[in-house]
Formats: sequence, C-alpha cells, structure tokens
Amino acid sequence: MNYFELPTLCREYGCRLLKDHKSSKHDPYPMVWNFMNSKDKDKLAKAGFATPRGGAKAGYQNHVVRNSQVIIPYEKINIVSLNHYQDSYVIRLYPEQYFEAPNIPKHKFVDGEDSWIKVGVNAYILYRTNQAYQNFTPLADWKLRGLEKNGVPVNKRGKGVKDVGHYILRMPALSPYSARSEGAPQGVFAPEYADAETNYLCKCVLAWLIIHTVESPYTTTLASHLKVILAQEGLLDETTYENKGVLRHGLCSCPLCLKFINYKELHQMTNFELGSGSENAAEQIEGATRSTLVNLFHLLPLKYDSIIHIPQNIAWGHHDCNTKLGQRHCRSLAELQELDWKVGIIKPDGIETFGWISRDYLMIRSPLGAVWIQIVGDYGSSTETEDLKAEITNDSP
Ligand SMILES: [Zn+2]
Ligand SMILES: [Zn+2]
Repeated sequence: MNYFELPTLCREYGCRLLKDHKSSKHDPYPMVWNFMNSKDKDKLAKAGFATPRGGAKAGYQNHVVRNSQVIIPYEKINIVSLNHYQDSYVIRLYPEQYFEAPNIPKHKFVDGEDSWIKVGVNAYILYRTNQAYQNFTPLADWKLRGLEKNGVPVNKRGKGVKDVGHYILRMPALSPYSARSEGAPQGVFAPEYADAETNYLCKCVLAWLIIHTVESPYTTTLASHLKVILAQEGLLDETTYENKGVLRHGLCSCPLCLKFINYKELHQMTNFELGSGSENAAEQIEGATRSTLVNLFHLLPLKYDSIIHIPQNIAWGHHDCNTKLGQRHCRSLAELQELDWKVGIIKPDGIETFGWISRDYLMIRSPLGAVWIQIVGDYGSSTETEDLKAEITNDSP
C-alpha cells in the first residue's frame, strides 16, 4: 500500500484550505468532497439540512441548514440548554399556555418566573385551531410574525434580518372556518440543530463513509484533503468507527443490522410495492414518503437536552433499520459487550447465553450479528424519549 503524506492546512483564522492556498480568502469550511459526483454532493448537502417536520403545520422552516434559528417549545424549556443554540432560538407558546383568560396573560409571564419570556421578543404564539383563536384572540397591539431588514419586510433570514411580530396562524379548515396560514416560519426542530462547525464536520465524516461504501467509485487517495481535516479533528481513527458499527472491516456498514452498505443504495429509492429490502413490506408506515434505501442515521435518538447531530453520532444506515430503531439508542456490539450483561436461555443442563443486553433492556445483540429491539416497555414505564416520539408524531403532517 502506498503511503501518502498528508498535506498541511493553512489554519489561519480557522482556515481549512491547504497551506499556501491560491485563493485570497480563507475558508474554514471548504467542500473537500468536491471530487464526488453531483448526486453524492446533493446527498451530503441534504444531510446538513434540518429535516422538515410537518413544517407548514407547526411553523417549522423547511430546507434550511441546521445552523439556523431553532424553535423551543415552551414545555421543553426546563430541559434544553439555551446556550447550545448559537444561531438563536425562539420560544413557542400555545395561547392556552400564555393566556389566563381572554386578553389576560398569565401572571408568570408578566411579573413572575417566566417574565424573561417575552412574546414579540424571544417568543411567539402559535394558533393551531380556530377555537383557540376565538378563545384567546391576539392582543390589540400584536402583529403577525415576519422578517424585516432595516424596517423593510423581507422573505428570508440572513445577516441583519430581524424577526418581528407576535404570533402565527397555522389553522386547518374546520367548518365554518377556512384554513389560515399566516406569519413567517419560525425556525427548525431544535433536536436537529448543529452549529456551522459541527454541521461541516458531520458532512466530512459522511463523505469519508461514502468513500468506504462497497463498490464506491472513489478512493481515499482522492480525499487526502478531507483526510487531513478529519485527522486534525480526531475523526480518522478507524477503531472508533469499527466499535460503533459504522465501519466494519473498513467498509461502511449500517449500525443497526451491520450489513455492508453498497454505494448504489445511497441513491436507490425504496419501492414499497416490491418490499424495500425489509423482510416484511406490510410494516411500511402508511403515508410515508419515498426514501432512498440508505439515509443519514443517528446512533443516539433525537433529544431536546443535547445536541445529537455531531460527528461521533452519525452514520449511513438503512431507511428500514432507522424506522425499526425508532427513538432508541443504537448500541453497538462492542458497547454491549463492554457493559457485560449477558442474556441466556435457562435449560435443564444449564444456561445457554446468546448475546448481550443493554442496561435499559431495549436492545440485545448476538456476536453473530442478530439484533433484538424492545418494541414495548413494561406497563407504567414512561420515558422522555417516548414523550418526544409523541411530539414528533404530533408535529408530522
Ligand atoms: Zn487560509
Ligand atoms: Zn441496516
């Protein structure tokens, strides 16, 4: 094997271009996967977007990068770290949460513990039903949310653009009322947020993993610039990827089922009629949109209390595996072995162990590759992830 010495980065002002670069501008986020074909570049760009979450219905913004303003639901305020969100946040309140009675905000927002939450400044009201709109009409001096630059209304967030106004309407038609959708989208789903630096490094890792898919048209020698960036960030250690099941024997693999990922599967569409590589096509969720066979995959489920879209937490994985995993932590075999809880079958002549179980009982893995996932927990158990799942379901179109 040839050994190519890695090039050196400029590193001035965080610049990640190669040392002595020709362009006069420094660039901390160069597209070092530019040698890839446009399909792969699109796939990487998409991975940097916050996924639409029933956008129109809940005031979420679609098709924007993850380092955008996020929406913090008021009911999550106690579990989020607001300082995570360097690209600003806005708090979403339902009228029922804000108003005591028509035209009277709850005391806690006026003079109490939540008086730092100011509708029109760092918060807005989302009207989801006409009923709520009738019960708690916007205050007389309130305006619809919008965007302004130097006092002039604009359509897009950007430098010098300010959010103004107090409320948005996302009300479906319900006789005798017709549907109303007014006021600008407010931000992205907070659990999908990543700052620009993190978002960039995630793309670097994902590009690196594309190179390692089976039958990939690329070689690592094409990617020496990418490689040096990963090395500098401590993201090149193959053992780490192998332990997580993101790579297996140096090839890109799905962290749940551990099957190798073929390059073609990144772009092949699921075909629900013929089954989608799933053993049971009937389990496809009704109304689910078509997807590629292989998608961005998070090892840790989306949560409000931490940033999940980080380079250590991403992989390419099967669409079906992602669906099966749901809101569970995808624990690798190495991780479960480390925790050392063996599970077995009690037989007359002793116990036959066959795998390792996670401490939360949600996953069992056998050393031969089989995976078990807990579908339903014991009665009476409720977890934060279940709450979040409920919310995601609510927010879906
Ligand atoms: Zn530079
Ligand atoms: Zn899989």
